[in-house]
Amino acid sequence: MTTRRAIVVGAGLSGLMAARTLVDRGWHVTVLDKGRGVGGRMATRRITAPDGRTAILDHGAQFFTVRDARFATLVNEWSSAGVVREWCRGFDGDDGHPRYVATNGMTALTKHLATGMDVLTSKLVFAVKPGIETRWTVVIDDGSEIDADAVVMTCPLPQSYSLTVTAGVELPSELLLTDYDRTIGLLAVLDGPTNIAAPGGLQNPDSVFSWIGDNAAKGISPVPAVTFHANPEWSAAHWDDDADTGSALLTAAAAAYIGDATIVASEYKKWRFATPKRLWPEPCFATADDTLVFAGDAFAGPKVEGAVLSGMAAGVVVAGG
Ligand SMILES: Cc1cc2nc3c(=O)[nH]c(=O)nc-3n(C[C@H](O)[C@H](O)[C@H](O)COP(=O)(O)OP(=O)(O)OC[C@H]3O[C@@H](n4cnc5c(N)ncnc54)[C@H](O)[C@@H]3O)c2cc1C
Repeated sequence: MTTRRAIVVGAGLSGLMAARTLVDRGWHVTVLDKGRGVGGRMATRRITAPDGRTAILDHGAQFFTVRDARFATLVNEWSSAGVVREWCRGFDGDDGHPRYVATNGMTALTKHLATGMDVLTSKLVFAVKPGIETRWTVVIDDGSEIDADAVVMTCPLPQSYSLTVTAGVELPSELLLTDYDRTIGLLAVLDGPTNIAAPGGLQNPDSVFSWIGDNAAKGISPVPAVTFHANPEWSAAHWDDDADTGSALLTAAAAAYIGDATIVASEYKKWRFATPKRLWPEPCFATADDTLVFAGDAFAGPKVEGAVLSGMAAGVVVAGG
C-alpha cells in the first residue's frame, strides 16, 4: 500500500498534534508555517537589555490547565520528559487545580512536539486547490506546490478560510464568521524585581490588563521581566494607536505593578487573532470526503488544551479512525 500524504498548515499546537496523530497512523506528513519558528500563539521572546542581560518572556499563552483525560495523559508524558512542570495551583490562593508551564518558555513545548517531524517554517501558504493527480495541491509563497491526499488547516479561522476559497468546498457560514478578540501586549525587562506577590501572576487586576505575568517568578527568565496583556476591550479601543502611543499608555498603566524597578527594555506586541469569540460545537470540521479538515482552538476550546484536542481529532478524522 502506498503511504498517504498529508499537509498540515500551521505549526502551532493543533497543527503539530494533528501531524503527530497522522504520523502515528503511518501517514507521511509535512507541516508548513509562515513563522520563522514553530509555536504560533505558544510564543516565547528573548529580549536583551542595554546591560547585555537576556530576559525570557512568554508572549502568547502563559500557562495551561488540564481537564480532559487524554490531555492529562499527554501532560504526564511531557512532565516525565521535563518539558512541562507545574507552576502553581492558583494566582489568588490555592484552588487545588495545577497550572502548568513549559519549562523553558511555552515555545519549548511546541519545539518538543516538532522534533523528528517534517516541519517547514517561513513557508506562507497561499492557497489550497483541488489537485490534478492527488486530491489537493497546496500553493506556497515561494512558488512551489505540494500535492497531498489530505490537508489539515489550523490557522485562525478567517485565515484558513481565505486560503481555501480556491478549494471549491462549501463551508458553514457560522464557521466563516468566527471572530477573534485581539490582545495588545507589553513585554518589559526590569532592572529589579516586581512587587507582584508569589506565584507571580495577576488575572484581570484592573480595567486595562487581563493578565500580568512575572516571568522570573514563573522560573523562565533569569532577569526580572513582565508580560502585560491588555484586555479585549482595551485592545480593541487602542488597536489603531501607533506603537509609541500604545506603548506609552501601557507603560504608564504598568507602573503600579513594578515596584521601585524601572523598565530598561520593552516590546509592544499585537495579536490580531488572540481568542476565538465563539466555539464550533465539534472538535474539528471536515468536508464531505474527510480530506480537508479545519482544526484549532476555535473548535475544542480557546486554550492550550482545546488546541491540542482539536488537532488530535483532526488527525483521527483524516486517518479514518
Ligand atoms: C495573548 C494570548 C494569551 C493566551 N494565554 C493563554 C493561557 O494562558 N492559557 C491557555 O491555555 N491558552 C492561552 N492562549 C490561547 C492559546 O495560545 C491558543 O489557544 C493556542 O496556542 C492555539 O493554538 P492553534 O494551533 O490552534 O493556533 P496557533 O497557535 O495560532 O497556530 C496557527 C499557526 O498557523 C500559522 N499560519 C497562519 N496563516 C498561515 C499561512 N497562510 N501559511 C502558513 N502558516 C500559517 C501561524 O503562523 C501559526 O503558527 C493565549 C493566546 C494569546 C494570543
